[in-house]
Amino acid sequence: MLAHLTKRTLLQQLSFARRYGSTSSTDSCDPLDLVIVGGGIVGCATAREMMIRHPNIKMAIVEKENALAKHQTGHNSGVVHAGIYYKPGSMKAKLCVEGLKLSYEYFCKHNIPHNKVGKLIVALNKDQVKRLDDLYDRGIKNNVPDLQLVEKDCISKYEPKCQGERALWSPWTGIVDWAVVCKHFAEEFEKMGGKIFLNYEVTGFSEMTESKGKGKLAPLSVQSKDRCILTNYVLTCAGLHSDRLAVMTGCDLSPRIVPFRGEYLLLSESKRHLCTTNIYPVPDPRFPFLGVHFTPRVNGEIWLGPNAVLAFAREGYRWRDINIRDCIEMAKFPGLYKLCFRFFIPGCKEIIKSIFYPLAVADLRKFIPEVSVKDVKRGPAGVRAQALDNNGNLVDDFVFDGGKGNVGARVMHCRNAPSPAATSSMAIAKFICDKLEADFKF
Ligand SMILES: Cc1cc2nc3c(=O)[nH]c(=O)nc-3n(C[C@H](O)[C@H](O)[C@H](O)COP(=O)(O)OP(=O)(O)OC[C@H]3O[C@@H](n4cnc5c(N)ncnc54)[C@H](O)[C@@H]3O)c2cc1C
Repeated sequence: MLAHLTKRTLLQQLSFARRYGSTSSTDSCDPLDLVIVGGGIVGCATAREMMIRHPNIKMAIVEKENALAKHQTGHNSGVVHAGIYYKPGSMKAKLCVEGLKLSYEYFCKHNIPHNKVGKLIVALNKDQVKRLDDLYDRGIKNNVPDLQLVEKDCISKYEPKCQGERALWSPWTGIVDWAVVCKHFAEEFEKMGGKIFLNYEVTGFSEMTESKGKGKLAPLSVQSKDRCILTNYVLTCAGLHSDRLAVMTGCDLSPRIVPFRGEYLLLSESKRHLCTTNIYPVPDPRFPFLGVHFTPRVNGEIWLGPNAVLAFAREGYRWRDINIRDCIEMAKFPGLYKLCFRFFIPGCKEIIKSIFYPLAVADLRKFIPEVSVKDVKRGPAGVRAQALDNNGNLVDDFVFDGGKGNVGARVMHCRNAPSPAATSSMAIAKFICDKLEADFKF
């Protein structure tokens, strides 16, 4: 929404700024320097990094939920990825390897529970062995530390009950609760003087035309239903809603976000001993997702998943979560039809396995035959913010965008932060801060 403000709304905004706008200054009419929209791990990591670099700036994070990390950051596999899969030279590859190192340093410094349990990527047949070898080359090109190929007879040395034709062992892959990490970032940000506003759903951005020449007011207002904050610049890191925020500042609708739910199964307590490391299949190169895997959690649970099924709501964690607006938008989006047409058969198989989960267990038994249907039950789910272009192509790397006109010139959007953005978050934060410093004045 690009609206010029009337005097009345200007006064309302001033009154809000008096109450909330200032983070550290005693002059509460001062606008903020930067507002970050989205209290997930990307927003919080960037807020922390920016505050470290510029201790005197006034900043706030605004989050629509009543707590931080409520969406992708709080609903994921909890894996610290080592950077094996990603195209050499891509931002994804570079930021993951850098993010891994920074993350472990951060966990140790802040006593965040984590465990370097490692990971086996297991090939089950000759075809997959060839792809596994390619994956090894890729990992080496990406500078993934200490990768090793493991022959059939040696797989059990790494995971006693696991079987396969050949495997790739990544000792640096680990596990952590990314929501806990996100909250640490936010706490540090607050300790340095940053403000966090929860229950603050951004509905639009406006230009403060009346501020011209008066020096004191900021050129932008970040609006929600009943409040607004004045600021010089805005960064949006809105995950599942990133395209909607971008459109508010005149950006193109593409890439659109399409929600793909990833559902997990839980292994019963009596069978947890069967899995001590992450066990992944060799990914199908046609898909951006890594495939259903065994993942130990820091709390001792073992999660099996996630699958990938289209969700009927951007925050649709269950089949019965349906959002009419989200469904209508998806129905009007040609990119989604093209994607569904291209992946019709694998898509249907995923849906069938989601409904009849013993079929998913049959896939998992190929790796650990001792797991049976009675050992698993349905578990939690996460929803991926999958960016898709108009031709139905899955956008696989980070996308940054700016808007149009006076408002857009002061807003930067992180439109796509796909997995492993939790692992990469500290490196992404550095990258975004460099970009903010280059494009805006602080
Ligand atoms: C099933 C699944 C498994 C994954 N596994 C891993 C893994 O093992 N390892 C890994 O590294 N990565 C993993 N990922 C990816 C990782 O979780 C995400 O890439 C990362 O959390 C993205 O963080 P984010 O801050 O961009 O988004 P989010 O965490 O979704 O945060 C965006 C925030 O913006 C807020 N917001 C949206 N709109 C507005 C608005 N209008 N106003 C105010 N606030 C708004 C939302 O409420 C939300 O809190 C996984 C993801 C999924 C879904």
